[in-house]
Amino acid sequence: MRSSGARRRLPAVAVPCPEEAFDSWLWRAAYRIGVAPGFFARALGLDLSGVRQVRPVGFGVCLSLEAAERLEACTGIPAGRFTGMQLANVAVVGAPVGKLTVSRLREWQADQWVSVYGGRVCPLCVADVPVSRLWWRLSAAAVCPVHRCLLVDECAGCGRRVQSGRAQLGMLPVREGALDPGVCGNVLAGSAMGRCEARLSDLPVTVVGDILVVWQRPLLEAFAGRPVRALGDEVSPRQWFAGVRLVTELVREAATAAELEDLGMPSSGRGPGAWLCSVAGEVRGRVGSPPASALEAAFVLRTAGSLLTGHDPQDAAGRLRSWADRLVRSGAAKTVLAPNRRDVPRLVAAAVGW
Ligand SMILES: [Zn+2]
Ligand SMILES: [Zn+2]
Repeated sequence: MRSSGARRRLPAVAVPCPEEAFDSWLWRAAYRIGVAPGFFARALGLDLSGVRQVRPVGFGVCLSLEAAERLEACTGIPAGRFTGMQLANVAVVGAPVGKLTVSRLREWQADQWVSVYGGRVCPLCVADVPVSRLWWRLSAAAVCPVHRCLLVDECAGCGRRVQSGRAQLGMLPVREGALDPGVCGNVLAGSAMGRCEARLSDLPVTVVGDILVVWQRPLLEAFAGRPVRALGDEVSPRQWFAGVRLVTELVREAATAAELEDLGMPSSGRGPGAWLCSVAGEVRGRVGSPPASALEAAFVLRTAGSLLTGHDPQDAAGRLRSWADRLVRSGAAKTVLAPNRRDVPRLVAAAVGW
């Protein structure tokens, strides 16, 4: 099938939900009309190649204007709706540079703290309509603000990141027939076509209360494209998030347990604060890595996020300076701080001595 030219309007296509990720919509819309996602993608004229599977490298990351207009012609849904569902267009994310390859895409998602293929999930949100929200693809996403539960990282059925292996690095299945978007769908190791059938809405939920929702608020403000404060300055969402990533490295590599406690993270007891202390020890030595779990994301939002957005910018800047000094003295500054300069807000850069 050709990937360009005039296309026929499809009779009935599922409308994208608010905040929905592009692959989530494609999976749902394909299921609605009873075909495989890759088959549907071809019918929409997306830039694809391959026979058994199709592998659009930038799938869900960026979409050309031409491709978006083709989608509009096929579905009647405005092109801008589709470009807004791409990860590279999210306000906190920097677009990948140059031609996308699989290895570059891996580097980019680690660098930007996003997850292209599958993210976290709120089992209660997907119970009605199996929609994967774009902001769940942020590695700093921690909690569902509606249901006040931690987002789920791992599928209880297959033990892997939920839905991360259903498209095998973006290779969309063509010949399997319709695939239910309400199940995990990860391809199971050791079987040719077997997929994990765990229902997302059945995954166990941990309710955490309001406090994590409050800590996560600046992230969602930034995601929505609104300006955020960093050390008292109003900055762009991308700058704020670059600041969060940098401060996270300082916290991971230089902050002591006593200093974390001083920031309001109790080292014992119960509740979210105590949980966060349980991950504090696990994040050392993971320079540049995105938060590996919703709990670690909550740790990042609590420490780095609240330091940048908090009420006492001078105190926060003083803490950043002393951590940066400590890294310089230990010789770790080069590996920890050097990769993180792009987009960092002016006052944060000044605080760490750049
Ligand atoms: Zn929810
Ligand atoms: Zn699974």
